[in-house]
Amino acid sequence: MADKTTILYIEDDLGSQMLVQRMLSFAGYRVIVASRGIEGIDMAQRELPSLILMDINLPDLSGREVTTRLRSDERFKTIPIVALTSQSQTSERDLAMAAGVTGYLNKPVDVDRLPAQVAHYLQGGKDTIDEVVLRKAQVAYSQEVVTRLEAKIRELERSNAELRRLDKIKDDFIQLTAHELRTPLTLIYGYSRLLQDSPIVKKLKAEASDVSMFVDGLVELIERMVKVINEILTISRIASGRVDLNITPTNLATITAAVIKNYQEAAQKRNLLINFTPSQWPVTLHGDFELLELCLHNLLGNAIKYTPDGGLITLSCRVGANNAVILIQDSGIGINKDDQVRIFDRFYTASDTQLHSTSKTAFRGGGLGLGLAISQGVIEAHGGRLWVESEGRDEEKLPGSTFYIELPLQAHTSTPQHKLP
Ligand code: ADP
Repeated sequence: MADKTTILYIEDDLGSQMLVQRMLSFAGYRVIVASRGIEGIDMAQRELPSLILMDINLPDLSGREVTTRLRSDERFKTIPIVALTSQSQTSERDLAMAAGVTGYLNKPVDVDRLPAQVAHYLQGGKDTIDEVVLRKAQVAYSQEVVTRLEAKIRELERSNAELRRLDKIKDDFIQLTAHELRTPLTLIYGYSRLLQDSPIVKKLKAEASDVSMFVDGLVELIERMVKVINEILTISRIASGRVDLNITPTNLATITAAVIKNYQEAAQKRNLLINFTPSQWPVTLHGDFELLELCLHNLLGNAIKYTPDGGLITLSCRVGANNAVILIQDSGIGINKDDQVRIFDRFYTASDTQLHSTSKTAFRGGGLGLGLAISQGVIEAHGGRLWVESEGRDEEKLPGSTFYIELPLQAHTSTPQHKLP
């Protein structure tokens, strides 16, 4: 079986596919079929057939273009490529020869003669046409290719413009919806806090544990909704290049200490050690206090989320002549090499989306996949860089991850126009 001669047939018409395949299989060949030009190129590269039978009118690339493409590959320089051309149009045959086919057969295929014709080309048979006709056809063929290329580029430009328009509509929609939701949600949050603090509820809470669970649960869940809405609003501002930085002399160690304090309780509950030595940190740099705090909050939150109980998280800083690099190092599950760029995309999560409604500080707890995109947008708006290094993801060996934030010590003077991918 394995030593049968392989023939690749590139044809979009199902009837012809079946007929030719049956005839040639019957004659002892192994026949593989592709319905489109691109598929034909891929199949040829994978299977390295001994002969290719090529229909000229294919839905994507023409048979001529497939031939030219294959001929540019050393492995297909000499193998017979036989075009199936319309008998009535000699120009079609000439163009195929100009594109580099070995020979041509008329369509519709004469099934009785086909095996002998195929054997002829396999044994080195070649068709020829008049030199002058061939040269003319070569000129016509290159013009045809350029015209088609131009039309394709125009078509792609039109679709790109349309995609950009739709992308903007989507961004505007998300932003508008988040805005509309934030106003009532802020009020709901305020009322829920008032309710929580009211003497009647406090009394009820003391009397019935259910009430305590309901009211505190309500406040906690509303807080989470406010956070999600705020994340969406921040990301849409960053995505549209509208991050207004409020640059002031900023003490990174102060920000970091505040962020750690925020997570202290969650870390203690999970027996995580957070290592931080403020003396190594620069006294001040120029940055936006609130946005830098948000980044550190996201990164430390992730380190906590993706490190199992009992792990170690270290926050350190290296100060150079012009910049400072903050390292957030965890002993967690790590990140696959393939994911190390993609995790910074909006809504990209390398984790199980089933976990997304779980607590933000639980091990492998949920998130929207926005935290890193926001952080990268903020750091780049400061003229800095955010990246990650990890040996890979392994929930047994726990290789850990290190996130690096590089920030210029001086203010980034140009107007931030950072656009997310
Ligand atoms: P999320 O809100 O889902 O955590 P992020 O944008 O903060 O979104 O992170 C994107 C993805 O990157 C996460 O879903 C997670 O798979 C991965 N990730 C981020 N930080 C870490 C880390 N410290 N260790 C392992 N994986 C991480």
